[in-house]
Amino acid sequence: MSTLRSIVELYHDIRSLLFPECCMVCGEHISSTMHGICPRCRLEIPVTNYWLRDDNPAKERFDGLLPIVHGSSFFFYRGNSLWRTLIHRFKYGGMWQMAYNLGEWYGAELKASEFYDDIDVIIPLPLHPIKTLKRGYNQARYLADGIAKSLGASVDSHAVRRTRNNPSQARRKRRERWEGVDDLFRVTKPERLRGKHILVVDDVMTSGATLYGCMLAIHTAVPDARISFATLAVTQYISHL
Ligand SMILES: [Zn+2]
Repeated sequence: MSTLRSIVELYHDIRSLLFPECCMVCGEHISSTMHGICPRCRLEIPVTNYWLRDDNPAKERFDGLLPIVHGSSFFFYRGNSLWRTLIHRFKYGGMWQMAYNLGEWYGAELKASEFYDDIDVIIPLPLHPIKTLKRGYNQARYLADGIAKSLGASVDSHAVRRTRNNPSQARRKRRERWEGVDDLFRVTKPERLRGKHILVVDDVMTSGATLYGCMLAIHTAVPDARISFATLAVTQYISHL
């Protein structure tokens, strides 16, 4: 073993003694090489495998609404699951590093599926600036950064803006979620997106209405852009109402 390697391993050993890392999902102690999620939780994540199929329930939500190239979600968003708690922690609890780590993992799966190989630009679903200020960050941005690292694409968080600070979709009735999304987003820098394959990224898809609003704005402003999407989680039962 080289001296340098011994020194690096010693550094990691001392660091893990001083700052033991925990699994982001179950809280078990793990090594720093596991990127925040222990092997058992990685096995137990309720994955959809949607990214391996060109026709899947997440993408089918937009059938007849928009020409989507590819679309997928990583895992199911289920009530009381640890994975759901995890999303709440990185969304509202300031733990943005989780979003990045999960994005990196999801991005590696997307890359392996080969459907997402030619993505040029990743657009994190924009929050309204007031909400970003209140929260301190947009969690979709960190997800997008993680996915971008794995896919080798760039992230553009300024080409699309949110026009209104509407109430949280989670608190709205299903029918209300689809109202007013047609002008909820505006493309401010269409020249950056022309002719590109764009991946719109968000954390959770419930009805898909907000995601639809963002993709519609891009499709309208930049008709020659190809649009795909990737959400980290998806609710299992879908309604267009
Ligand atoms: Zn765990």
